[in-house]
Amino acid sequence: MADNKLYEVLGVTRNSSDSEIKRNYHKLAKEYHPDKNPAAGDRFKEISYAYEVLSDPKKRQTYDKYGLKGLQEGGQGGGFPQDDLFRQFFGDIFGMGGGGRSRGRARGEDTVHTLKVSLEDIYVGKTAKLQLSKNVICGPCKGVGGKPGSVVSCRDCHGQGIKVSYQQMAPNMTRQFQTRCHTCQGQGETISEKDKCPKCKGKKVLNETKILEVHVEKGMRENQKITFRGEGDQQPDTEPGDVIIVLQQKPHDVFQRSGDDLIIKHDISLTEALCGFEFVVKHLDGRDLLIRHAAGEVIKPGDLKGILGEGMPQYKNPFEKGNLYIKFDVTFPENNFATEEQLKQIETVLPPRAAFVMPTGEDVEEVNLMDYTPSERSRGREEAYASDDEDQMHSGQGVQCAHQ
Ligand SMILES: [Zn+2]
Ligand SMILES: [Zn+2]
Repeated sequence: MADNKLYEVLGVTRNSSDSEIKRNYHKLAKEYHPDKNPAAGDRFKEISYAYEVLSDPKKRQTYDKYGLKGLQEGGQGGGFPQDDLFRQFFGDIFGMGGGGRSRGRARGEDTVHTLKVSLEDIYVGKTAKLQLSKNVICGPCKGVGGKPGSVVSCRDCHGQGIKVSYQQMAPNMTRQFQTRCHTCQGQGETISEKDKCPKCKGKKVLNETKILEVHVEKGMRENQKITFRGEGDQQPDTEPGDVIIVLQQKPHDVFQRSGDDLIIKHDISLTEALCGFEFVVKHLDGRDLLIRHAAGEVIKPGDLKGILGEGMPQYKNPFEKGNLYIKFDVTFPENNFATEEQLKQIETVLPPRAAFVMPTGEDVEEVNLMDYTPSERSRGREEAYASDDEDQMHSGQGVQCAHQ
């Protein structure tokens, strides 16, 4: 696959003219300038880098031919001295490796795995074992793939691994194609069948199963990454990439997490809301938290109460914890839960009703209070639509009722 990322960064294509590239660069540079858009610093750097390459005919040619790698290696033609700049801007974005590593060696891709963990795991911490399969350099041939001296440069692609062909589009325009060399599978070299290493059959690497111990630390966050440096697939003459474990928190039945805080929902009865209550919350580490609420302080539906220091432990500072919040709902008694006599008694202790003033005159009309059901409501609505839109006639049950 041809590498078009720098073109994409500037919103242009391989065939765009210099002036088009320049125009788009100015537009984007304005939009993402750090003075205007401080949050888009990386984007601005990308744009600047892309323009630096694509505005220089020599660099653009190198990039078109060999992609970002060609610029990075700098050897083939164009040459690009600003290796540091390159790594800084594109290391993470284009998966070509971060800074601070040994230079000069290509770096393999990172391998990303997700690890599902429970909220309990994150609260108390745990070590998870993850079984991975990865490529390692073949031992018997030390990654050569065959007998010493048996590896020869591919004759079909002259050791490039790719074949470049051109197509005449117009008198002054040729299009360039890059295809992977079939003879050497893009390796740039071949080994004759008889010389191939019997263990890896010339592949230079073997597949191995490896178990990684992942330490899930207290207070880690959703999507937090745990990196195992250099544990990615091994390949000859290549620095192995990293294995990156991305944590994914399984939803919890009782607790919801919000940063370092925990939130639970708790239903109480009307009696408890008025007269006090106690209940137990089973915490994530197995402790039973006894929660008492004295009579007299009324809890209303939707009230939120907090318990200090019973939230999640802070990452890297686990003795500090967030808070636990409880959102209350109040369950009211069912219809006819009391006799008329009992209700009168209840009324004697509840706050008095607001005074009722009966309106006078002929415009007073007594109406019925009905139970609200969504279908009753949609009937009225659908009917309104049906009159001006044919399709709506068949869309809802409510409509059918209305036509009976
Ligand atoms: Zn080849
Ligand atoms: Zn081998």
